[in-house]
Amino acid sequence: MLLLQGIHTFYGHIEAVKGIDLKINKGEIVCLIGSNGAGKSTTLMTISGILKPVKGRILFDGEEIHRLLPHKIVAKGISQVPEGRRIFPKLTVRENLEMGAYSTVTRNALRVTGHEITTQLEYVFALFPVLRERQKQMGGTLSGGEQQMLAIGRALMSKPRLLLLDEPSLGLAPIFVGKIFKTIKELNAEGLTILLVEQNAKAALKLANRGYVIESGRVTREGGGRELLNDPDIKKAYLGE
Ligand code: ATP
Repeated sequence: MLLLQGIHTFYGHIEAVKGIDLKINKGEIVCLIGSNGAGKSTTLMTISGILKPVKGRILFDGEEIHRLLPHKIVAKGISQVPEGRRIFPKLTVRENLEMGAYSTVTRNALRVTGHEITTQLEYVFALFPVLRERQKQMGGTLSGGEQQMLAIGRALMSKPRLLLLDEPSLGLAPIFVGKIFKTIKELNAEGLTILLVEQNAKAALKLANRGYVIESGRVTREGGGRELLNDPDIKKAYLGE
């Protein structure tokens, strides 16, 4: 479904991603693990078009997408839940969700049409009932865990086929961490393909079909989730064992 071939991404003169190759098959959960600053977020932002690769190609369903603007990439079926959630604090919960389908209304560029927005809202409210209860509340008044649900809900409003999740459990109370991982599993069981970046490498590898280890902008290991989970080097470096 998604193929990254020799991707190099820079911030000015700093090369954060140094020739990454990776693939995601339809229906998989794939996770990226690695220490702080390894280039995981940069990889996600390059896929979603927020950053442009200087070299390399990204193919989605066989079609080159790395030169497209971010909203066109969303329209192709890729949505990102950014690190730190980045919800709109001064918009209501419902307005935050509607923003996930905004281009639909203005440019008809997304995968959902007007009446589908209502259907998607219902889908998100069924997934996270607390968002229905709080739909008139300002986004900024939600707890961290609820904001993470809102950020995931907003990304789902464009009916993605591939969801990019950047550190969804970061800073959350344990009860919400469990809920978020359960939701990721459910979304995948419904057919959504997922690329997950997680500091909580153990939980991510348990959930993932496959994983990649990223170090200093390069892939240094790849393998099945269980295989990486049981690897002595990975255990020592990333699982605190
Ligand atoms: P983290 O878990 O800390 O987010 P990461 O693996 O996602 O780590 P990135 O955020 O992709 O890492 O960062 C990769 C490299 O790029 C790091 O060296 C980082 O300092 C650098 N970097 C990230 N964002 C910027 C920026 N806006 N300007 C300059 N350098 C940046």
